[in-house]
Amino acid sequence: MARKIKSSDIEKSSFKFPYFSVSGGLFIVILFSVLWRPLNLDRTVYVPLTPQAETTVNNNTQSSATDDEKVEIVNGKPVVVTESSDDPEDEIAKDELDDIVDDKDNSVQYTIVRGDTLHDILLRYNVNRNDIYQLTTKFKQLANLRIGQQVSWTTDDNHNLQTFSWTISSNNIRIYEKSGDKFVESSETVEAVPQDIVIKGEIKNSFVSDARKSGLTSNEIAIITRALQWRLDFRRLQIGDKFSVVLTREMHGKSLSNSQLLGVRIKNGTKDYYAILADDGKYYDINANSLSQSFFRYPLAKKARVSSGFNPRRLHPVTGQIAPHNGVDFAVSRGTPVLSVGNGEVVIAKYSGSAGNYIAIRHGRQYMTTYMHLDKILVKPGQQVKQGDKIGLSGNTGRSTGPHLHFELHINNKPVNPLTASLPISEGLTGKSKKAFLSKAKNISSQLTF
Ligand SMILES: [Zn+2]
Repeated sequence: MARKIKSSDIEKSSFKFPYFSVSGGLFIVILFSVLWRPLNLDRTVYVPLTPQAETTVNNNTQSSATDDEKVEIVNGKPVVVTESSDDPEDEIAKDELDDIVDDKDNSVQYTIVRGDTLHDILLRYNVNRNDIYQLTTKFKQLANLRIGQQVSWTTDDNHNLQTFSWTISSNNIRIYEKSGDKFVESSETVEAVPQDIVIKGEIKNSFVSDARKSGLTSNEIAIITRALQWRLDFRRLQIGDKFSVVLTREMHGKSLSNSQLLGVRIKNGTKDYYAILADDGKYYDINANSLSQSFFRYPLAKKARVSSGFNPRRLHPVTGQIAPHNGVDFAVSRGTPVLSVGNGEVVIAKYSGSAGNYIAIRHGRQYMTTYMHLDKILVKPGQQVKQGDKIGLSGNTGRSTGPHLHFELHINNKPVNPLTASLPISEGLTGKSKKAFLSKAKNISSQLTF
């Protein structure tokens, strides 16, 4: 009896189910096609303004100000804007030093500093992600990099990793070589031949070309410009200025050469600039003061809500295409003071396409910050700014769906998440490490003559 009821129930429902879903689906399709266009036209008001501001104003998104999703009306039809809305028209000009710091070279030497992971370092230098994955997952020991140790690697023109070497100590070097699409580890325990070298030169043309002529490699020049980036603007060096460098270069086998910059002195006019390597792998001036500069985490006096986070692989909710969000959006009302996160030089301050009123500030050689959709710009290109200076007022200019501040941080010309990026800490040495450093600095600086 129970069986009979069951089977007839199943028959009934299997008959009714498709009938229901077809008629229900049809109803939804009809409802959707009736409501779709008026709904969108209602929500979005197209405001054709002056040529400099072709803006879409979306009335309903004032509360969640962001530049994530936009709908524009083109020929009477709503079209979702897929490109990033924070694209300034003005590109930040590069110079000779940028190319050095960018490291277009296929071979890189790098000294481990606090907070480094191999994954992050290689990513920063645009090494192929798959190679990074292969290397770091297969060789777990590479998680044990120590501050001050040197790693070096070579890539081909397509950023594929060819060889990677890790100098654990001067006579213990691990080498990872690509064979097929895998890496093979070997170690070299050949006694290294370290050579202390002093290189001297004079500025006749530019620091980069004269340093190259004197025998310094691109990597060594990059280390020098990075170490002194907060103290000295290398572009302002004059003809007749001098430099002196102490290095240890180690040869391992035929092709592998490691070098370590122990100290550098640059004489600019009557002023001397020193960078001396300490045991922590960082450079300090001759009095053990930090050569780096601190950054504010936020370009605002008060913490504000993040309405859209950093997301380089952001998928557009409608098109499914990648539309990276290279910065962070802070939901702040129009007129909120915007502060420079660090000392630097204003390189761009103007209205620039969908970025609206736009400021770009260069901090040293490796860091750049940008500020977009401002209501007012309070600085000029070429102006030097200090950390905390009011550079503008936040707004809603350019292609923006409501008042907010779009803020970007670039390290080595690559956008990074400003909320999580490791930022330089400006702390000098103290106590025992200061004492050890000062005696080392005395020895090195005595070699840094002209
Ligand atoms: Zn944004």
